Amino acid sequence: MARETQHARSAKNRGKNSGHQHKKQFGQNFLNNNQIIDRIVAAIRPQADDHMIEIGPGEAALTDPVIRIVKHLDIIEIDNDLIPQLKIKFASLPAFHLHHTDALRFDYAELLHTSDEQVRVVGNLPYNISSPLMFHLLKYAANITDMHFMLQKEVVERICAQPGGRQFGRLSVMMQYYCKTENLFDVGPENFTPAPKVDSAIVRLLPFKNKPLIADDEALFERFVRQCFTLKRKTLRNNLKGWLNEEQIEACGISASARSETLAVADFVKLCNYYRQHAP
Ligand code: SAM
Repeated sequence: MARETQHARSAKNRGKNSGHQHKKQFGQNFLNNNQIIDRIVAAIRPQADDHMIEIGPGEAALTDPVIRIVKHLDIIEIDNDLIPQLKIKFASLPAFHLHHTDALRFDYAELLHTSDEQVRVVGNLPYNISSPLMFHLLKYAANITDMHFMLQKEVVERICAQPGGRQFGRLSVMMQYYCKTENLFDVGPENFTPAPKVDSAIVRLLPFKNKPLIADDEALFERFVRQCFTLKRKTLRNNLKGWLNEEQIEACGISASARSETLAVADFVKLCNYYRQHAP
C-alpha cells in the first residue's frame, strides 16, 4: 500500500509539473499513466533475484516500481539534468547503480559480475536511437535473458513481421536471427508527456541461447542482409549483383527472381553462407 501511494505520487509529479525541460534530442517523452506503467511492469515481471539494466530512466516511471523488486538495477541515463533527482530518489536503495553515460557507446560487459551472468534489459527507448541501440545490445546477447522495450509501433511491427508482408525487411531478419520476438501491446501518444507524434508499442525480445540458424560469419551476415534490401521491391538478382550471380542464387534452392521481402530468415542464412564459401 505504501508503495502504491509513492508510485502514484511520482506519476503525478512526472511530466509537465516536474520542472524538467524535456529535451527533444534525447527523445524525452515520459510515461504519465500509472495503468500503462503497471501493465508494462506486469509484462516484464521483475523478480527479486534479477540483475536488470534500464536504458533511459527519465523521471523514473519504470525505475520506481522495478527498483523496489529486483536485487540489482543498472540505470543508464545520458541527460545531466536528470542525474541529481535520480540520485535523490534512489541512492539509499541497495539495488540502485546509476551510470551517467551514453547507452549507445556503453560497454555492457562492464556490468557483468561473472562472464556467464544473465541480465535483463528494459527501456522506454528514445526512438531516434532505438535500432542502433538494439544492434549494440545484441553483441551481449549471450548474457541477456530478455529485453522489453517501448518503441515506435511501426518499428515493433517491423521487428516482428513475417516474410511476404509489407513490414518485413532488414530489421525483421536481423532481430529474428538473434531473438524470438513478441509484439505485446500498443501504447497511445496520450500516455506520454509531451505526447509523441507516433503510436508506440512494447516488444519482448528473447535472445536465443542456441540459435536455430547459424550464419558462419555474423558481421558478413549483417552486411549481406543490408545488401539484399538495398533496392526496395527489387529481385535478388538485382540486389545481389556483384555478390552472387543467378546460378549461385538458384544453387541455394532460391529463385533469383524472388524479392528479399518474401524470403525466410533461413534463406538469408543459406545465401550468405554460400557467398562466404564461394565468393572470389
Ligand atoms: N523511462 C522514462 C519513461 O518511460 O518515462 C523516460 C523515457 S524517454 C522516452 C527516453 C530516456 O532516455 C530519457 O530519459 C533520455 O534522457 C534517455 N536517453 C536518450 N538518449 C540516451 C542515450 N544515448 N543514452 C542513455 N539515455 C538516453
